[in-house]
Amino acid sequence: MRSGGKTRPVFPFGSKKRLPEGERPGPTSKARLDPRLLDQAVTSLKGVGGRTAAGLARMGIETVGDLLEHIPFRYEEPASLVAVRDLSEEKEATVKVRVHSSSLRRTRRPGLKILEAIVGDDTGSVKAVWYNQEYLADAFALRPELLIRGRLKRSRGELSLSVRSHEIISESKTHRRSAERPDGVHTLGVVPVYPATGELSVRRIRTLVARALPLARNYVDPLPASLLTAMRYPRRPDALAAVHFPARITEGRLARDRLAFEELLLLQVALLRRRARERGQKRAVSLGEPGDLVGRYLAGLPFAPTRAQSRVIREIDADLAGSAPMRRLLQGDVGSGKTLVATYALLRGLEAGGQAAMMAPTEVLADQHAMRLGEQLADLGILPVLLKGSQSAQERREALRVLESEDPVLVIGTHALIQESVRFRDLRVVVIDEQHRFGVEQRQALLSADELGHWPHVLHMTATPIPRTLSLTLYGDLDLSVLDELPPGRTPVRTRLVREDRVGRMWAFVRRELDEGRQAYVVCPLIEENDALCVASATKKFSELAEGELAGYRIGLLHGQMPAAEKRQVMGAFAAGELQVLVSTTVIEVGIDVSNASVMVIEGARRFGLSQLHQLRGRVGRGAAESFCLLTVDATDDEETRERLALFARTSDGFALAEADLAGRGEGQLFGRRQSGFGDLRVARLTTDARLLYKAREAARRMLETDPGLEDPRHVLLREEAARRFEQKTEWLDRA
Ligand code: ADP
Ligand code: MG
Repeated sequence: MRSGGKTRPVFPFGSKKRLPEGERPGPTSKARLDPRLLDQAVTSLKGVGGRTAAGLARMGIETVGDLLEHIPFRYEEPASLVAVRDLSEEKEATVKVRVHSSSLRRTRRPGLKILEAIVGDDTGSVKAVWYNQEYLADAFALRPELLIRGRLKRSRGELSLSVRSHEIISESKTHRRSAERPDGVHTLGVVPVYPATGELSVRRIRTLVARALPLARNYVDPLPASLLTAMRYPRRPDALAAVHFPARITEGRLARDRLAFEELLLLQVALLRRRARERGQKRAVSLGEPGDLVGRYLAGLPFAPTRAQSRVIREIDADLAGSAPMRRLLQGDVGSGKTLVATYALLRGLEAGGQAAMMAPTEVLADQHAMRLGEQLADLGILPVLLKGSQSAQERREALRVLESEDPVLVIGTHALIQESVRFRDLRVVVIDEQHRFGVEQRQALLSADELGHWPHVLHMTATPIPRTLSLTLYGDLDLSVLDELPPGRTPVRTRLVREDRVGRMWAFVRRELDEGRQAYVVCPLIEENDALCVASATKKFSELAEGELAGYRIGLLHGQMPAAEKRQVMGAFAAGELQVLVSTTVIEVGIDVSNASVMVIEGARRFGLSQLHQLRGRVGRGAAESFCLLTVDATDDEETRERLALFARTSDGFALAEADLAGRGEGQLFGRRQSGFGDLRVARLTTDARLLYKAREAARRMLETDPGLEDPRHVLLREEAARRFEQKTEWLDRA
């Protein structure tokens, strides 16, 4: 190891230029590089014992490589080394000094202890002040040399150095730097700030990262050199050095972008390769051109399809004509008319002489679909078969018998569709409604090849508008269709926030609407992950309203734990207008379509995500009458909550709300833990890295275009790294 420069210590971990001679990887050092060193446990680092390792593990850091990939989330501005004589008031600077004397001072304020030390260099000395760090007194008694980062302050006419951070660098006269005891990482140059926890300070993490950093040279760069040149990015080992201890903040940011880009590129490569494999290997029956049945269906509708619906239908037709299975995600805001498109796709399966199935996440929804389609398709001679958990053995046997017959059949069901005993003979088209409500395995289970090895064509539908960044990440291997237009004649729903002291007036308003012949939903507060409590709160609200504000009106109660027959009966009564008010848990969140309902009251609105509120609001505004969504808010709601809800009240664009959810709650939150799995992005953030994501997508696409198998030696590392990091995680997409 070399000693540092004279006037200013050489900063060891910044850009390559500044690496001391002996630490620069020379042409011969390549042979000694060993990527496995990065897989060593953190305990292989000097000074890391069981407790530190446990603390790191709780942050997801187990290996040296994990530690190196724990990157700073911001930097402190650089402070360069100045002479004590040159310190100026109120300006942050770093000095290299020796302790001359120190003393502990008690103050009148209980609990506040001040450690003062006279410190100095060749040019002068100054009093430095630490608060509540009396444990330093012992170390200072040895008169060590220090690096101090701080600010000269004047208090009662006296100047002293208020210490922000310090490092004890050495007890000997000559200041030596070494990789094991890197000096200056907390005080000199740009200082990185890391995500930390109570048990592990930023300072401790910084020390450990600095200690691990020399091993970064063992990284093999998965990015081809040509791509690095095109993007003007540093190589991986340099990027890691620069992201942790950059010479300038801009250098650190560039290095971070490079690492984020790499991560996104690996993910896109994994997704696009799966998609290519899917298309290359799986066969489906080509359904040819649209025929007579769908023609009659469209002609019989009481309205013309919107332009968006027609466009998506054409996209689906193009997929169905191919002999690779359709894998399409249909996004459309609530009320955009997804059911029409879904029905069209299902009928295409039937007219080809095969079976078609639609899976919905709740019985209420499956019932509604079966009822609607039953009415709509009766003229075409089609009677949907319903399959769901609550059926009697007899009903079920009957449904299964129909499935086994040779005739084309349309099946609508819940999870019951994916039970062992259900066998499809020639399933041609599958629609998965509100697909994000299903677990990975559930969606997979419905999809398998028939005896001749033919896979069904699949249309996934979601009413949760997904920001493009997220859909490219979560569903990067699906084709995307968007219904970006609402059917004509909708009046936007008026949304109002109702404070506690106005609740009485709100119910008076609801009564007026009911008296006008309209209907209302009342949704009870969401109690996360606890069905029983939700049910209890809905039940309580139901009796309160029935005896209080809405006494004398016909009120029904609906929640997830009611027997299916009862649910069906309540839903039916509400749809038929026999019930005026439906008090419910969030079971009505998706799909329910009762056009005479004009009021949606949502209690405890702050507990819901914006996308979820948007879904609920989508239950009204389906008819000609002006509709209202009333959210009760608590006086205790904080500023952020109020802002969120205010945004909701003035925004009817589901995409904008989903973006806001994404920004506010983080990507893992948008669909809940259940599905997101991509909290696994370590560096990239979908909320802020959209630009990088699009570039990565494009780079992945171009690379795979010329080298689909990534067999070119320049691409092999990338292929392997993509597989290692993301293959497992994208596996479910393959089958979904
Ligand atoms: P979602 O996309 O939320 O599932 P639906 O398919 O339930 O929406 O459609 C919402 C309402 O709009 C339904 O009542 C449906 O009959 C009606 N609808 C769908 N398409 C059109 C159209 N092209 N013109 C007029 N009304 C339509
Ligand atoms: Mg729907």
